[in-house]
Amino acid sequence: MVAYSKCMEMFNALRLFKEMGFLGNVVAWTAMISGFLQNEGKEEALDLFWEMRRKGVRPNEFTYSVILTALPVISPSEVHAQVVKTNYERSSTVGTALLDAYVKLGKVDEASKVFNGIDDKDIVAWSAMLAGYAQTGETEAAIKMFSDLTKGGIKPNEFTFSSILNVCAATTASMGPGKQFHGLAIKSRLDFSCMRVHKKTELGRSAAEKIIEMKPEDLAAYVLLSNMYAESGDWQERAKVRKLMNERNVKKEAAYSWIEVKNKTYVFLAGDRSHPLQDQIYMKLEDLSTRLKDLGYKPDTSYVLQDIDDELKEAVLAQHSERLAIAFELISTPKGSPLLIIKNLRVCGDCHVVIKLIAKIEEREIVVRDTNRFHHFSSDGVCSCGHFW
Ligand SMILES: [Zn+2]
Ligand SMILES: [Zn+2]
Repeated sequence: MVAYSKCMEMFNALRLFKEMGFLGNVVAWTAMISGFLQNEGKEEALDLFWEMRRKGVRPNEFTYSVILTALPVISPSEVHAQVVKTNYERSSTVGTALLDAYVKLGKVDEASKVFNGIDDKDIVAWSAMLAGYAQTGETEAAIKMFSDLTKGGIKPNEFTFSSILNVCAATTASMGPGKQFHGLAIKSRLDFSCMRVHKKTELGRSAAEKIIEMKPEDLAAYVLLSNMYAESGDWQERAKVRKLMNERNVKKEAAYSWIEVKNKTYVFLAGDRSHPLQDQIYMKLEDLSTRLKDLGYKPDTSYVLQDIDDELKEAVLAQHSERLAIAFELISTPKGSPLLIIKNLRVCGDCHVVIKLIAKIEEREIVVRDTNRFHHFSSDGVCSCGHFW
């Protein structure tokens, strides 16, 4: 059973969605399911999932991703059967979540079956599978996979390199290929001195620590350092690195927000320019930004960790994914109707202030479900979280 306060939050959300007429909306159902899953309400989440189906609302790939990433509370085979019926397992998002779920349980064979079934394997899918082989120490499979990947014309990223170099660092026999991969990593400007990991953890550590000191937003360095601590069994140090990543908001995942408008799902990444209505969206954002500044709003650039000048930082903030999603909903839904957004990470403090002001000047109720909680911004500019966001 979920804790009382969280339970209340969920019941409030349910009531709210009913009042707002969101019960035909897949985003609302997914928000509630993710809410329960994050609070150990596995049964409630599954009940909601079935109720959603009974009400004729079709889960989409994001719903499945939410369910699958909540593992190990739910066994993947429970969901796998459903996923297969809808054919979503062929999509990269769901397929990767599913294979990741199997990897977490150490079922690399199952993971590899799912991987082979994915239609358009992107780098995330490849990296997840490679991480699976790395975890179980299947060096040969990992090396073969890495070469398939590069032959297929896919550009490896820091996670791919980190996995393959970790595999090679674990066995002396693979020092040869390890050197090659390291050469490739350097060519791709991804030199994290992973080769030093091999029996020279101290050197590797101090290199990673230096990178973090110089470039506190460099995700790969944190991942490497945390993996090194894990390898040497130093869980306390590893926890410290993870904590530092949280404090500095360095995230493994790319931030995105998603919404449903007229029965269609839209996903926005930060700075996204792929939407057909992008010109109107950015015009709306410009317009909002002028009106917010008239109200005395000053962007809080401390939420931007990149080392760039202040003007650019403001531009980065102004293009956070939830703002793009909100701008699109504002221009494509009737005046006065409520907005609902799901974000896969936590809403930053500056966006929280901005959404509060937008709710007020546009006279709209806005509900944002982030990884932390539900935020219900009323049209008079107050959030249900009491701004202890
Ligand atoms: Zn933000
Ligand atoms: Zn809030």
